Amino acid sequence: MGSVFTHTHRPKKVIEDLKENRIKFSSPETDGNSTEIDQKKKEKMIKELNEFQDLISKENKNIKLWVNYNPEIGDYFLYNNNILISFSELYFGLNKGALFHEIGHYHYLKQELFFIGLNLIGYITFLGWGIYRKSVKTVGASGLIFFSSLSLISRYFEKQCDLYAVKKGYKQDLIDHFEKSKTENKKMKTKSWLFNLLISKNGDDRLNYSHPALTTRIKYLEELNED
Ligand SMILES: [Zn+2]
Repeated sequence: MGSVFTHTHRPKKVIEDLKENRIKFSSPETDGNSTEIDQKKKEKMIKELNEFQDLISKENKNIKLWVNYNPEIGDYFLYNNNILISFSELYFGLNKGALFHEIGHYHYLKQELFFIGLNLIGYITFLGWGIYRKSVKTVGASGLIFFSSLSLISRYFEKQCDLYAVKKGYKQDLIDHFEKSKTENKKMKTKSWLFNLLISKNGDDRLNYSHPALTTRIKYLEELNED
């Protein structure tokens, strides 16, 4: 099914692997070394995985949950109707706010694709016109407008998905998830000059045009008045 699903398994298989001691934990944080998972941790992981599975099937029967064993891959990710979570997220504790944000993406997928398509049509028209007129400025402007609009569309839907998680009652979970991401980013910042460049002092990604900054997202959620 493509590279996204390499080393990716359904919860049933993950639970079997955990019970049969077929999988160890490794991550960049353990410098790639694999460590045994103790019994208590295993039970917690199985419980959380089952809980996630239940929440998803109550919400939408079409969404499938997968766990990725690749230690390099982190976080939560939606691919078509599949939600992928990393084994390290499972190890350190699953977050329902992050889960419902991804379900939000599934929910808004058609709308987002519609706006991206509209933007693409606008771009091609504008670009074609620029080429026809042999206007470098028009060609340049069309590209600039296309990428800015793409960033705006993406950020708008990221916010809608955050609000989707809030609506489902997981506002604090989502804030905790963003705080955790910031802490992880700050740790990465000290590891190499490249990460130092890419990550701000607050732990925000400097070059992420598709998502609002973590600090902005947290502030927005904290100031939100729920009725
Ligand atoms: Zn998102």
